[in-house]
Amino acid sequence: MRPLALFGGTFDPIHIGHLSVAWEASELLDAEVRLLPANVPPHRPSPTATAVQRVEMLRAALRGQSRLTLDTRELERNGPSYTFDTLAELRREVGERPLVLLLGADAFAGLRSWHRWRELFDVAHIGVINRPGIDACMPAEVERAVAARRTDDPGVIRSQPAGKVIELVVTPLEVSATRIRELLAAGRDPRYLLPAGLFDDPMLLAPYRTA
Ligand code: ATP
Repeated sequence: MRPLALFGGTFDPIHIGHLSVAWEASELLDAEVRLLPANVPPHRPSPTATAVQRVEMLRAALRGQSRLTLDTRELERNGPSYTFDTLAELRREVGERPLVLLLGADAFAGLRSWHRWRELFDVAHIGVINRPGIDACMPAEVERAVAARRTDDPGVIRSQPAGKVIELVVTPLEVSATRIRELLAAGRDPRYLLPAGLFDDPMLLAPYRTA
């Protein structure tokens, strides 16, 4: 069955690193990929742009294609959104369809700090995306928990609803939202690090520019 993959993040702002890896992951897994903007990430400082602004940027970025879609359910909830709860809700909606949580290697290495992280495998697979410039040193506890779950066969992901970990080798792009926020705050114009749609309306990037 065609998997449904979820790519969560703050998307503050969405950049070409996010889009390119989500696109390639979608091709590698033959999956539908939904970008899932987070409301108040439990382990991160608040985003610079508001939830509404981040969604406007995502909509502008995703225009003109249909492989990548947007899922705003976490923003519609009050309070922090735990990935486990979101995946459990999606599991109830999709029945036996494979679910894949896509994580950059940096996020995967920090899995231990996530709410109910060991139970994530009951509801989804995890697709780990390589990310350059990240020293993704895997904590032994996480490695022990995932060792027996590893597969390199997308067919295995398609054949069962949850429980596996697959490394997805995508074109490395060393782009981060932190760097883009710094460039914008310094009055620079990181035009080709951002999707073209973000330049259609000057208000979209206004939250990051200093007056
Ligand atoms: P920030 O710099 O604000 O921390 P970010 O660029 O890491 O932001 P997030 O929204 O935090 O972006 O990332 C969401 C997901 O995208 C995470 O799983 C992260 O690992 C992944 N990701 C972001 N940029 C890249 C990239 N260039 N290559 C691969 N994965 C990426």
